[in-house]
Amino acid sequence: MRRQGFFFAWAVALSLIAACTGGNAPDTSSGKLRLLATTGMVRDAVSQVVKDRAEVSALMGAGVDPHLYKATQSDLGKISYANAIFYNGLFLEGKLSDVLEKAARKRYVIPVSDGIDPALLLHADSTTAAAATDSTANHAAYDPHIWFDVSLWSKAVAHISNEMQRIDPPNADFYRQNALSYIAQLEQLHTQIKTDLAAIPTEQRLLITSHDAFHYFGRAYGIEVKGLQGISTVAEFGLKDISQMVDLIVSRRIKAVFIESSVPQKSLEAVVAGCQERGWSVKIGGTLYSDALGADNTPEGTYIGMLQSNVRTIVNGLK
Ligand SMILES: [Zn+2]
Repeated sequence: MRRQGFFFAWAVALSLIAACTGGNAPDTSSGKLRLLATTGMVRDAVSQVVKDRAEVSALMGAGVDPHLYKATQSDLGKISYANAIFYNGLFLEGKLSDVLEKAARKRYVIPVSDGIDPALLLHADSTTAAAATDSTANHAAYDPHIWFDVSLWSKAVAHISNEMQRIDPPNADFYRQNALSYIAQLEQLHTQIKTDLAAIPTEQRLLITSHDAFHYFGRAYGIEVKGLQGISTVAEFGLKDISQMVDLIVSRRIKAVFIESSVPQKSLEAVVAGCQERGWSVKIGGTLYSDALGADNTPEGTYIGMLQSNVRTIVNGLK
């Protein structure tokens, strides 16, 4: 009887510890925390902060569109294995909302966009929100593509660092130092992008892509942007959108439009053909990484390498 009482008290104590830590002690086999990210951009940011002190993986790989992404059966396994989940937020991963909400009952679930002052965020295009027929319309208040302004992304990195210090206090100094040195690299990148884009003549500074992923990029680095689809790839585009785009390209004598790695290129081919009919030859200037990083173990598989690649492609296409 006394023995049973002891085990009961022990079980209560354990469950209290679990409640206080969000239900997750570090993994006992490797001794490392298991961190899960949604996109490659978030994964890279988390990895820069935690280095080898935690296991980091991502749900979405190269070329995967986060706006349309739904959790698979194996993703549910990865989610329940994770001690903490980092995601972009601002409804980028709109179709994972329910899964993430459920996951948050038992583990840390952290939107990295929480590190950014809402006053710095761009509002989603109201026509796009109205065009979305499902529940996304209610939530798509802000443009989620925050990684395209490096100064904003630095704030997301700082937020990841703060959260990791809270989740894993023994390694707090390590996380803080890593974040500081990575943010210093990001500051350099931010300045470099401004310098590089200045090579494009002012009247040619118009970035045309498949969907509206580049508004933060445009605001931060002084280039006008137009996407054929709205802020989410969920929205459809029509013949009217194509003909307006053709008008714009022909009148501004723009040299190139750009494909995105995570969006089918059919839409932009229609624009190129439309320009040709009007006697203006616009080329496909190459592929930009928009909502996903490049393949693992390539320079474009990192956040910094992805942005450098985009900037090269844009400058070469438009200058
Ligand atoms: Zn997008």
